[in-house]
Amino acid sequence: MNNRYNDFNTYLRSIYGCRVQKITIDAGLSCPNRDGTVSSGGCIYCNARGSGTGALARGLSVTGQLLQGKQALFRRYKAKKFLAYFQSFSNTYAPVEKLKLLYDEALAVEDIVGLAIGTRPDCVGQAVLELLQNYARRYLVWVEYGLQSANDATLALINRGHDVRCFQDAVRATANRGIRICAHVILGLPHETREDMFNTARTIAELGIDGVKLHLLYVIKGTRLETLYRQGEIRCLEQQEYVDLVCDFLEHLPRDMIIQRLTGDPHPGELAAPQWALKKSDTLGEINNTLEKRDSWQGKFYEVGSGNDRKWE
Ligand code: SF4
Repeated sequence: MNNRYNDFNTYLRSIYGCRVQKITIDAGLSCPNRDGTVSSGGCIYCNARGSGTGALARGLSVTGQLLQGKQALFRRYKAKKFLAYFQSFSNTYAPVEKLKLLYDEALAVEDIVGLAIGTRPDCVGQAVLELLQNYARRYLVWVEYGLQSANDATLALINRGHDVRCFQDAVRATANRGIRICAHVILGLPHETREDMFNTARTIAELGIDGVKLHLLYVIKGTRLETLYRQGEIRCLEQQEYVDLVCDFLEHLPRDMIIQRLTGDPHPGELAAPQWALKKSDTLGEINNTLEKRDSWQGKFYEVGSGNDRKWE
């Protein structure tokens, strides 16, 4: 248990009384920011291969992926319950009948206690939300929306293909249905200032969402971000810079928001920079050390109803 921030494992254990792990699923879906509907280029950091595990294309069904994941996660963590995590690409981007088949298949597997669905905020219509609302009556359901930044100029620069308003509208449409909402945020996006990142923390805090995943911006080989990096147009954060930003961010979130992730997990063979991104446990350790040195915690500077308007120092 980490008492300086509200971590996901502790939250899940408090519900189920045992270790609960997410099992990553590739359901073979696509993304409107890749298939030409919104754009064909994708986000500038998106890994065309790595955003999907390719498991379905290799012939492993949703059930097969879950059974394999259960075995591995039981061996590694002694996990006894699991969430089916539809992670690859945009997992509400398909006809609702097809989505229902996929989600039903996952929930039929023994010990699967809920769904976590990663998607874009421009990919959720009324029918999908009603479907998820229905599951949420019986299962734990998290929907994870990619926001990345609450700065529209940044979103345009990274070719997200949606703006902040779109995210806010999706969150409002999802609220009050029993569905838990998580926002994905990237720290260290091109040309972002600490004030921009503070503004992102304030935006998600004000929306009253349930959880957040923080990611470091790292450069994957073969992406447009790599070109910018090689041309010297962007730089990567140093490890301590990232650690400090994460701590600042946590301090400005509500105490009860659930922290699902504090850094990303690049594949060593695909990573161009920064190399320290591979040292995940070091980074997590440094975040804990820094919070301890500051005698700080999640929510330390969050003030209810104040607009959380303390500036970065
Ligand atoms: S929304 Fe996700 S899958 Fe789609 S292009 Fe961006 S990073 Fe890639």
